Amino acid sequence: MRVPFADLSRGTRELRAEIDGAIGRVLDRGWFVLGEEGAAFEEEFAAVVGAKHAVGVASGTDAIELALRALDVGPGDDVVTQANTCIPTISAIERSGARPVLCDVEPEGGTVSLTSLERALTSATRAIVPVHLYGQCGDMEPLRALAAERAIPIVEDCAQAHLATYRDRVVGTMGDLGAFSFYPTKNLGALGDGGAIVTSDDTLADRLRLLRQYGQSGRYEHIQRGVNSRLDEVQAAILRAKLPRLRAGNTRRNEIAAVYDAALEGTALRPPARFPARSHAFHLYVIRTPDRDRVQRHLADRGVGTLIHYPRPVHGHPGYKDLGDAGVDLSNSERMAREVLSVPLFPELTDDEVTYVAEALRAVGTAGPGAPRRGRSAPAISG
Ligand SMILES: *Cc1c(COP(=O)(O)O)cnc(C)c1O
Repeated sequence: MRVPFADLSRGTRELRAEIDGAIGRVLDRGWFVLGEEGAAFEEEFAAVVGAKHAVGVASGTDAIELALRALDVGPGDDVVTQANTCIPTISAIERSGARPVLCDVEPEGGTVSLTSLERALTSATRAIVPVHLYGQCGDMEPLRALAAERAIPIVEDCAQAHLATYRDRVVGTMGDLGAFSFYPTKNLGALGDGGAIVTSDDTLADRLRLLRQYGQSGRYEHIQRGVNSRLDEVQAAILRAKLPRLRAGNTRRNEIAAVYDAALEGTALRPPARFPARSHAFHLYVIRTPDRDRVQRHLADRGVGTLIHYPRPVHGHPGYKDLGDAGVDLSNSERMAREVLSVPLFPELTDDEVTYVAEALRAVGTAGPGAPRRGRSAPAISG
């Protein structure tokens, strides 16, 4: 058997009639940017997340950038984010004009470490961008307390974590603004690029609506600077067709994760950290092993597709090396880059495929040169 790391054609095939209908509606209406579909999607998405407003934009990267700009973050300002995010988080901060400052992550969870964050704050810090990495919500309660104490706004990077929760709060509603991506592989994916910012602040929402459309308040009336970043009508209509399946998709992702968790018990491979107060959207199922390259090879031999998210922390890339020079210890992020391995996890995997991957994980984790490593298990976690 071969199990692909991802296969976007399956979900699209299942929803083909709804998607065709959605596209057809837009074609028949003949209105392609900032119309009924976009407005309806914004309303529906805001309701699902539990925010007052959602503002559709062209990508997740733009969502982070415009969220920062709505907060008046710009040149001369510092924005702290974590070192093991993907580069778009950094591009977005830099496009706002601000300087990204990296902090480290919790050793197991991979989300912002509070102690490291505190060390990374400077007198110029004007925003914090925690990333709900892999679909795991960050430790938002202490983070919110720290940010409130210093009066620093939070922009949550929710690109991987649609509908993940911390106690009864949904990601995107715990910061001042939440930035989402609808890149095709995300838990809610368009058939092209797309993004949205959610907020319950009326002023910020108004600013975002201006920012995404050249600062335009009425036809040829520009009351501030802005850019062009809009979620088009075709993508919005497709997202409306897919949104009702988001929750079930996340549930299926969690079911598959539970099967993998059980298979990894007592093996040399560590399952993703779990935190009782936080639900996981399982955008990715990421195992940890110091023996990563061997494990990846053996899974490939068994036909199981894997990827590494991410093989380097931000400051490990030649183009971003200088971001590691701020004097903040980033060793947890660096260790993650050496140990993480993502295995297939998407709602359309068949039960047979899930069983096959689980058996392959178990076999590779308990046999072969270098393993098992004294039956290591994930450390107990509270929170
Ligand atoms: C996908 C992603 C982004 C960027 O989203 P795009 O829609 O591709 O611009 C930003 N941050 C994280 C953590 C992501 O996974």
